[in-house]
Amino acid sequence: MVSQKRALVCGAGGFIGSHMVKKLKAQGFWVRGVDLKAPEFGETKADDFVMSDLRDPVVCAKVTDQPFDEVYQFAADMGGAGFVFTGENDAAIMHNSAMINLNILEAGRHARIRRIFYSSSACIYPEYNQMDPDNPNCSEDSAYPAAPDSDYGWEKLFSERLYMAYARNYGMDVHIARYHNIFGEEGTWTGGREKSPAALSRKVAETPDGGEIEIWGDGKQTRSFLYISECLEATQRLIRSDVMGPLNIGSEEMVTINRLAEMIMEIAGKKVGIRHIPGPLGVRGRRSDNRLIREKLGWAPSQPLREGLKVTYAWIAEQVKAAGGAGR
Ligand code: NAD
Repeated sequence: MVSQKRALVCGAGGFIGSHMVKKLKAQGFWVRGVDLKAPEFGETKADDFVMSDLRDPVVCAKVTDQPFDEVYQFAADMGGAGFVFTGENDAAIMHNSAMINLNILEAGRHARIRRIFYSSSACIYPEYNQMDPDNPNCSEDSAYPAAPDSDYGWEKLFSERLYMAYARNYGMDVHIARYHNIFGEEGTWTGGREKSPAALSRKVAETPDGGEIEIWGDGKQTRSFLYISECLEATQRLIRSDVMGPLNIGSEEMVTINRLAEMIMEIAGKKVGIRHIPGPLGVRGRRSDNRLIREKLGWAPSQPLREGLKVTYAWIAEQVKAAGGAGR
């Protein structure tokens, strides 16, 4: 009899982590999830859900007390531009996320955990390569000389190096992705930590036809967005490969924020005006460069942005309606 595979998901109460738990369960894994909080939208599917703080080394030792075939490290102090780019949360972001990574790696080393995935971010890329909204450079080898535009990005870069050092010195089987704006249903959609696809979907859903929504900046900044199921597929291809990375996991379909808002209006079947207001922005342009992941893993997104947006908008419109807003 083949024994059941086991996975540990750190950050299992979060957006990507809770989706990954579902996917692993559907694949027949026994799953332990760890997080400070339970998933916000629906019960966890994990067999064992440990509600604990991964900044604590004792917790990290406890949750790694048995062999795992795959460990996914998604836990981080995380947020949209409203949380990450104001400067007000920098110390907490750096302290909390670095502590989690330091502790889980050390515990994992003692527990002889081998295969571990780390979720880094496009935010590690230097600001100087992302000033032109039409031609951002986010190829993996452009990360150095380092100049991320946020302390969130600096912590991710530090932790990438930490994981690579554990691979080099302790033989851990490390796999690192740099995620570019992952979005989808059952993600934060209100409260200040939501990212632009969710924030704009909420604003459009809340606004009656002919009304007006606000967008930070001139809306000409560009980004690319990857739907959650594509992200999970790429992540598993990476952890199950012999590639350490870091590899970009994102979409090459670049849109301005104004265009993203229009796409959402088209999906909603509404026309609302856009008012541009000052707000935290981040870099002018950013897009995933998928050349390396195509070459190494043969992966590329299977669907255009619009398909994921349709599902996400429908889900957010339901949330808005349930909260007493306009809904559609
Ligand atoms: P998320 O905020 O939904 O999930 C992170 C989870 O970590 C949260 O549930 C949070 O409670 C948990 N956490 C934070 N501190 C903890 C602690 N001390 N102990 C235990 N749990 C703790 O974020 P997400 O969107 O699911 O992102 C997952 C990972 O991917 C993060 O590391 C993030 O930085 C990275 N990433 C995400 C994106 C994206 O677009 N979503 C882009 C780049 C990188």
